[in-house]
Amino acid sequence: MRLALALAKKAYFLGEVPVGAVAVCDDEVIAWAYNEKEKRNDATFHAEMLALQRAAAYLKRWRLTDVTLYCTLEPCPMCAGAMVNARLGRLVFGARDPKAGAAGSILEIVRYPLLNHQVETCGGILEEECAELLSSFFADLRRDGRVGRRRSTRNRVDG
Ligand SMILES: [Zn+2]
Repeated sequence: MRLALALAKKAYFLGEVPVGAVAVCDDEVIAWAYNEKEKRNDATFHAEMLALQRAAAYLKRWRLTDVTLYCTLEPCPMCAGAMVNARLGRLVFGARDPKAGAAGSILEIVRYPLLNHQVETCGGILEEECAELLSSFFADLRRDGRVGRRRSTRNRVDG
């Protein structure tokens, strides 16, 4: 989770919503990612999606029953759905997301009993640090209209 937090901080620096994800299999980190939605102009490039894709590419299989995914934020419905489809073994997340969380906050997708797979889930790990990073990102955004290096460079060029 510390590594996931470091990745979230990198996203923050790059002007992305600070979310990081790390995939672990047999006590080994096999994939990691941070949110790249702004950079790629793609709403599906969440850290969790990228980490799942990279874990599957590394293992050369889509079934991730022996993988634990550490995420700094509770997954959204898209990522939670992808975790179920990937048959993810275990999800460990930091901050809860009262606006979009699909691991119990507003929806329960990862453990929904009628789906064909339920992900073992543990939330609230390093919760304060993960949540603090997100709140300071959005506070910066409200105050300056921009966050991080990428946006400030663009604004300087425009200004
Ligand atoms: Zn997501």
